[in-house]
Order: sequence, then structure tokens, then C-alpha cells
Amino acid sequence: MEKRTFLKTGLFLGIAAASTSFLEACKSAGKAATSSNTVLPPPKNRRTEPFTLPALGFETAALEPNIDKMTMEIHHGKHHNAYVTNLNDAVKGTVYADYELEDIIKRITGSDEDKKIRNNAGGHWNHTFFWQTIAPGGPKAPAGDLAAAINTVFGSEDKFREQFSNAAKSVFGSGWAWLCVGKDKKLFICTSPNQDNPLMLNISKQLGTPILGLDVWEHAYYLKYQNKRPDYITAFYNIINWKVVAERYDKLMF
Ligand code: MN
Repeated sequence: MEKRTFLKTGLFLGIAAASTSFLEACKSAGKAATSSNTVLPPPKNRRTEPFTLPALGFETAALEPNIDKMTMEIHHGKHHNAYVTNLNDAVKGTVYADYELEDIIKRITGSDEDKKIRNNAGGHWNHTFFWQTIAPGGPKAPAGDLAAAINTVFGSEDKFREQFSNAAKSVFGSGWAWLCVGKDKKLFICTSPNQDNPLMLNISKQLGTPILGLDVWEHAYYLKYQNKRPDYITAFYNIINWKVVAERYDKLMF
């Protein structure tokens, strides 16, 4: 065997061995239960228009004093807008070029070549979801079946807040905290790094459908709260749109 062929074969076997051990590692980490979902067929519905920045359902100053006007202007108009622009650019010429946003989210992989799409599709999905999760009008509380489920799973609304706040505080660097409904229809709290989310079948360590999410990137709070992320998290409870969160929950449960 020529040296070059030997090197190539050796490299190939090395990659094959690495892939096998990766699969084994996933199985032993308990991901085997979800692996049947990770290779989804191509979606039937295809997108014909570019992704666009959705309008906020309220004025940028409407969430004050919990979130200030300038943060909302920059967060929505600059950060979210950049995810949309970069996503349109990133999907060009790829298999995802005409996929709807959620179809991309569910199929995106952790590969280097998917990285730009992963970050920007996640950024677009997460922020669109976030703007719908918050609303002006002061503190409200969960009601109905969602309130009952929160009491059952976490003990009380206060205990839910405590656990959710701790999760949000625990995110190292940039990321999100989520309240999700799992496959077993139970509520659970989790976090994700960067712009990942629990819908990413090939990426997320904890899979579920988010019904509430909190952006804990510094760009979400730094102008008003600087290093005081816990204060921003506390303020979040004043602006949660529990009506929308409960609608999301009911849709998944009933
Ligand atoms: Mn953000």
C-alpha cells in the first residue's frame, strides 16, 4: 500500500471510529430515546418569501421600567433584524434554502457547515417567540390548567419562579431559560446556550416544546441592568404574557 493511500484509509477509519464512539456516547447519555426523531424527512411545505422581521405587538417604551425603550429598539431593530438578514444569507444554496423556520430548527445539526444557519435560525425563532411572551400591562399570574400544572410540578407559582430564576442565572455567558412541555406532557425547566433551543432535535440536550422563554444574553438587559442579571430576571415576571403562555400550553395538551 502506498503511504498516501494508507494515510487516507487510516484517516477514514479514524473518522468512522470517532463517529461510532459518538453514537455510543449519545446512547449512553440517554439520547437514544430521541434518536429516531433526529432524521426527519424533508418538509412538505416550502417557503417562497425571504424571512422578515416581525413587528412588535407593542411600542418599544411600553415595557418600561422593566425593559427600557433603547434596549427594546436595539434588541428588536438591530439584533433580531441581524439574525433575520444573516439567516436569509446563510440558507442560500443549502438544503434549507426554502424550508420554513421551524422545519430548519428541527433538522439543523451541530456540524460546522450548519453553524451559521443554526445560530441565526435559532436567533430568529427565539426572538420571535420572546416578543410574543412579553407584554405591557403589569404583572399577571398563570391561570387555568397551566396554573394547576405549575402547582403540581413545582409546588407553587413562587417555587416555579425560584427554579426558573435559578436556571436563568445559571446560564454561563449567552443563552436562554425555558419552560417547556416534554413528550410526556409534563412541564420542565431547562436552559440552552447561545441561540439553541429545546426544539433542536439534533442539538438540544433536553427536548421539549417551549411555552415560555427568557433571553439572558447581555444585549437583552445590559443598558439598564449592567451586571445585575438577577434584577432583570425579577423584572421579567412583571411582563410575562401569561395569556399567550397558557394558550401555548393548552394547544399542546388538549
Ligand atoms: Mn436577544
